[in-house]
Amino acid sequence: MSSLKGKIITVVGSGLIGRSWAMVFLSGGYMVKIYDNKPGQASGAITEIRKQIEELQQANMLRGNLTAAEQLSLLSSHDDLQQALEGAFFVQECVFEDLEAKQTVFHEVENLVTESVILSSSTSCLMPSNMFSRVQNRTRCIISHPVNPPYYVRLVELVPHPETLPAVMDVAYSLMTDVGQAPVRLRKEIDGFALNRVQYAIIAESWRLVQDGVISVKDIDLVMSEGLGMRYAFIGPIETMHLNAPEGMVDYLQRYSQGMKRVLNTFGPVPDFSGEPAARIIKEICELIPAEQEHLTARRERRDQLLMGLAKLKNEASP
Ligand code: NAD
Repeated sequence: MSSLKGKIITVVGSGLIGRSWAMVFLSGGYMVKIYDNKPGQASGAITEIRKQIEELQQANMLRGNLTAAEQLSLLSSHDDLQQALEGAFFVQECVFEDLEAKQTVFHEVENLVTESVILSSSTSCLMPSNMFSRVQNRTRCIISHPVNPPYYVRLVELVPHPETLPAVMDVAYSLMTDVGQAPVRLRKEIDGFALNRVQYAIIAESWRLVQDGVISVKDIDLVMSEGLGMRYAFIGPIETMHLNAPEGMVDYLQRYSQGMKRVLNTFGPVPDFSGEPAARIIKEICELIPAEQEHLTARRERRDQLLMGLAKLKNEASP
């Protein structure tokens, strides 16, 4: 993988996720060229990234082996797509979550790069088979779905198009590992990928429990943050099962599978997320955290600070 070091990655779209990807790739020593179709947006992104990278260095939280100045020297912004794509081996698309906009971007990009360039999308919920439908050579297309904020939450879901070559998945996997992310491979596309399917299952049951008057909003959030979430930051649900019975997974299934099935069979239908239950849940959460910007911003800052600390702890505790 060291052969990729110093190579060029083009980031298309310089909003929240484009800027984060740029910082992650820079930390791994890659040259990053940022393009945005809104004039001035890409150069504005550079100013923002410079500020963040310098702050991270001061806080001893800068990722990678390079100094802030070294990382920033690898970064450039472009208002011209062709210029931005020159020399790139990997293109990370980060434009609005809009199918047509993304299809158009990939169509344009394909016409400006050679066959070997990997075309990667950050989409949260568009299916590869839809998104890459206007690309001629879909064997080099892939989704690399990050989690916000990618600088602290390292998971990247790699989702192939049905035609994607295994070698393309391998390069994306190596690249993500090389820059310190934690890639996982989906073997085929599925709506919601893996992360959002699990997340939506948690949201749905939490919602049903509050809606049905079983528990308050405050307390269901504590069930995650003080209960399940404590171990899920380090071990997943399958390892949890394996460790939670004296003799491991087989023992766990003997002891608990009947109970799990009984409870799972009581789960209600997909919530509507509207009407009276929604109004009640909105009221409850807004009493805890008012929806005015100042309160939301303060909680987001707290979240990011805590994630930063957790990322540091995970680094020290790894693997
Ligand atoms: P954003 O709105 O912050 O940024 C989008 C940027 O794309 C803007 O700067 C815009 O000017 C630019 N843009 C739009 N059309 C373009 C085009 N044709 N060519 C070049 N640039 C163009 O959006 P975001 O939150 O950064 O999301 C980007 C992608 O990342 C989306 O697909 C989203 O689903 C995905 N994603 C977002 C999150 C998140 O939490 N925000 C998490 C994971 C994945």
